[in-house]
Amino acid sequence: MSLIVQKFGGSSVRNIERIKAVAQRVCNAKDQGHQVVVVVSAMGDMTDDLIKMVHEITPDPTPRELDMLLSTGEQISISLLAIAIQSYGHTAVSLTGWQAGVQTENLHGKAKIKGIDVHRIQKELEADQIVIVAGFQGINEMGDITTLGRGGSDTSAVALAVALQADVCEIFTDVDGVYTADPRILPEARKMSVVSYGEMLEMASSGAVVLQPRAVEFAAQYRMPITVRSSFNDHPGTMVKEVSDMEREMYVSAVTHDCNVTKITVIGVPDRPGVAYTIFEALAKARINVDMIVQSTKAETVTDLLFTISSDDTRQAVHIIEGLIDELGAQGLHCDDSVAKVSVIGAGMVTNPGVAALMFKALSSAGINIQVISTSEIRISCLIDRARVQDAVRAIHSAFKLDQDPSELPPSPVDLL
Ligand code: ADP
Ligand code: ASP
Ligand code: MG
Repeated sequence: MSLIVQKFGGSSVRNIERIKAVAQRVCNAKDQGHQVVVVVSAMGDMTDDLIKMVHEITPDPTPRELDMLLSTGEQISISLLAIAIQSYGHTAVSLTGWQAGVQTENLHGKAKIKGIDVHRIQKELEADQIVIVAGFQGINEMGDITTLGRGGSDTSAVALAVALQADVCEIFTDVDGVYTADPRILPEARKMSVVSYGEMLEMASSGAVVLQPRAVEFAAQYRMPITVRSSFNDHPGTMVKEVSDMEREMYVSAVTHDCNVTKITVIGVPDRPGVAYTIFEALAKARINVDMIVQSTKAETVTDLLFTISSDDTRQAVHIIEGLIDELGAQGLHCDDSVAKVSVIGAGMVTNPGVAALMFKALSSAGINIQVISTSEIRISCLIDRARVQDAVRAIHSAFKLDQDPSELPPSPVDLL
């Protein structure tokens, strides 16, 4: 008998009809003789709707109360799913994050899971229950409810799979798997049958919301295989796992985009040691993740420091930096929400020159200006005008011929230039 963890995202439990369909799928897995632990997200756009309600009161809710509110979304879907499963004649029990033993660090809004005490879940499994756990939430050492950041149910599912030593973690969503680009903006994108942890982590961190980056990090660390597949059909999906055969890694596997990006420029900061440290230390202490960083050099003794952050952190980051302007002797701050980041990801790009050139050629042919460039070993990202993001993804996808069978592609990107 195997133990499987199945996670269903918001669109998969959007309404009662969908909840019944999910219940049916879970019952089928149980009927096949598996022990089943299910993780669910809030129904449809409920998390967004709850945030909107808060913003009708204040733009700055206290993080503790916000988490208290947001965690209720998942509480509705777990109980409805348990009731639906019971109505099909199976035994099921729903557990909130804290009932399921999910312990997190002391941070609201994007807490990391510190550990999971699986005793309660194991007891329920031994009693032949289908166990349904609320995703996206846990409890900190003070006994307060925390949430794991947007898309956090993916991480709940993988962490539970690891803690329970499950055989596989299945992530059910509204697309058939992981694609060479977001299939919603690029219908010609191709479904990948396998993707390595490394590539998936770069994809998730650069905008492919199909998996939360932390979930991929967990899976990679503990070698937990993940299957990403649709809850709307029985197509096979994508395996995220360790790919040992490096030869098979393409120079470029996928194009991602991220519109949830804000560009911040600290204008006219004195060109002296300690400035970057002061700014990024303050942001780090507030747990704000900084992505691209560019410092321009001017002939004078001042410089501009530009960086990008998630748009979710804009208010807090602006508040922090405004408080530092005088101390730094900077001239001001500029905040730009009209940008997006497009990236190409490929584990084979390290050994294949020409990837950057081909990406820049594609953007230039589409008349798209590159504002900032950043690279990692397996990713190249460009900051561009948000209004052109779809054109950019299409141009890059087509330049690298990602819609074609990878075995038919030329051996080097240089051949595509
Ligand atoms: P869920 O509610 O199931 O968690 P999400 O909306 O968080 O679903 O993630 C699924 C979405 O991820 C898809 O609808 C798709 O638009 C988006 N997505 C972005 N990039 C990719 C990609 N490369 N492959 C598949 N889906 C992607
Ligand atoms: N409901 C949460 C969100 O919308 C968590 C999730 O869907 O994974 O971000
Ligand atoms: Mg999601």
